[in-house]
Amino acid sequence: MRYLVLSDIHANLAAFQTVLQDAPPFDRIWCLGDVIGYGPEPSECVALLRQYEHDCVAGNHDWATLGRLDTEDFNPDARRALTWTRANLDAAGVAYLQKLPTALTFGDFTLVHGSPRQPVWEYTLYAGMAAANFDYLDTPYCFVGHTHVPVLFEQTTHNGVVSARVRRPVYDEPIALPGGRLIINPGSVGQPRDNDPRASYLLLDTDAQTLLFRRVEYPVEQTQQNMQDHGLPARLAARLSNGW
Ligand code: ZN
Repeated sequence: MRYLVLSDIHANLAAFQTVLQDAPPFDRIWCLGDVIGYGPEPSECVALLRQYEHDCVAGNHDWATLGRLDTEDFNPDARRALTWTRANLDAAGVAYLQKLPTALTFGDFTLVHGSPRQPVWEYTLYAGMAAANFDYLDTPYCFVGHTHVPVLFEQTTHNGVVSARVRRPVYDEPIALPGGRLIINPGSVGQPRDNDPRASYLLLDTDAQTLLFRRVEYPVEQTQQNMQDHGLPARLAARLSNGW
């Protein structure tokens, strides 16, 4: 099976459509949450995702939109965008988000938004965090999103001490899944934060046991224009140009 693994679409329809067109053939989508939030097309992104065979877990923005998370920790721009999203997400979108689980497991793979330890909220940012999270993982491999930065954390054990080796992705070159344990982040479709504005995603081939990371340029201006038209914060639109 070939899975299109993506995360953090963040209501950016132009980016999502571009990824779907750019992706090599796939059988199913695995989506790691935050389908909505920040961007101008939340209902459209949920509807587009639902056109595909897919599995999806809940992200913190998905939950915040439903009122399940305190938004105290959100910065002012994120809160403004959240208020807008609550007012504009259609009923079908709300019903869809309400049904999202916080974690899913399929064979060797776990899917969460944040981390195995705290699926919705924790950022798996550094090697130490990844190392601590291997204890909470029941499968060899885990896909996470949330940080918007593509990365692999590979479990290593030295003199009985468990740590994680950080591997930055190589693009357009299949990476063989190692035998050990791995936490894998495909990066963000709709709001990359690694100083590269291109949409980020990956392809998992479970027959070949490979990962293929990809980046693709999308019409950023189109999303920015729609954000401006809807009165979404200018700073959130500007950041898309630079990928932060
Ligand atoms: Zn996110």
